[in-house]
Amino acid sequence: MDIGFIGLGNMGAHMARRLIEAGHRVIVYDTRQEAIGNLAAKGAVAARSPQEVADMAELVMASLPTPDIVLKVATGPEGVIEGKKVRRFVDLSTTGAVMAQRIFKTLAERAIVQIDAPVSGGVVGAEKGTVAVMASGPRADVEAVEPALRVIGKFFYIGEKPGAGQTMKLCNNVLSAAGMAATSESILMGVKAGLDPQVMLDVINASSGRSTATEQKFPQVVVPRKFNQGFTAGLMLKDVNLFLSEAKALGLSSSVIEAVAAIFKLTCDELGPDKDMTQIVQPLEQRAGVEIRAPEA
Ligand code: NAD
Repeated sequence: MDIGFIGLGNMGAHMARRLIEAGHRVIVYDTRQEAIGNLAAKGAVAARSPQEVADMAELVMASLPTPDIVLKVATGPEGVIEGKKVRRFVDLSTTGAVMAQRIFKTLAERAIVQIDAPVSGGVVGAEKGTVAVMASGPRADVEAVEPALRVIGKFFYIGEKPGAGQTMKLCNNVLSAAGMAATSESILMGVKAGLDPQVMLDVINASSGRSTATEQKFPQVVVPRKFNQGFTAGLMLKDVNLFLSEAKALGLSSSVIEAVAAIFKLTCDELGPDKDMTQIVQPLEQRAGVEIRAPEA
């Protein structure tokens, strides 16, 4: 099958490569030439615009950073909407339900069906094809793209309503963000009090406080000071803010998640939005006057 793929970053490069390896002809585009070159070397066909991708494939996927960029790529000039061949647009990015519904409506005017299918499971999950894929949209259209989505990860059908997959994804991501923020404060307190962070993590991972932060991010990324989780603080702040605005629109208040947003904002303000999301520990460490690292042998 011919599949277009737009956005070849931390996540998209792996997902597009998996589709090539599964035997699909994959037509790729990114604003970075280097990213296109890397995929072309693996057998992808290079395109010069989202429109050109959509001229060549009935199914076009995207993995792009922000809702505004997805809107432009999908519906702007030289966007997917202007493609001659495209029938289905699968958005793997995290854009929130409001944007998913807006793009769904605009593309529908040209008889293109948008399926929102955000993913969770990080760069390692994208590499191994183990991300959770949360698809929503008209059932028959989702079924038509399901085999390709199963190459990318574990497939879940969330519902007919456009944006339902996005809502699901935001509900998951705020838990991941909250786990990272709460673990930062917890481990930092223990370290300041003189505990060994590795011993703390061993105990927590045998106890009730464990999460992906204690099982993976802290032992593999924070304590060894690698800060290479592969998801930026800016993108996580975007997701947390999208959750807050959807919650507000439903008349809900979310005080815990507001506090989580503040910690990610602090990191974006002080270190920059392109820093790894695990670096939220650093502004906290600076204030505490200690660092979370293995004690010297
Ligand atoms: P990224 O910034 O690494 O990759 C985005 C890619 O899009 C880059 O290669 C960039 O050059 C390209 N791009 C930007 N503007 C473009 C445009 N106008 N046209 C074409 N290409 C353009 O981001 P990522 O970490 O791969 O995340 C992609 C999406 O997946 C985001 O919505 C993110 O929230 C979501 N996500 C990320 C992770 C993760 O762990 N990194 C996990 C789950 C979901």
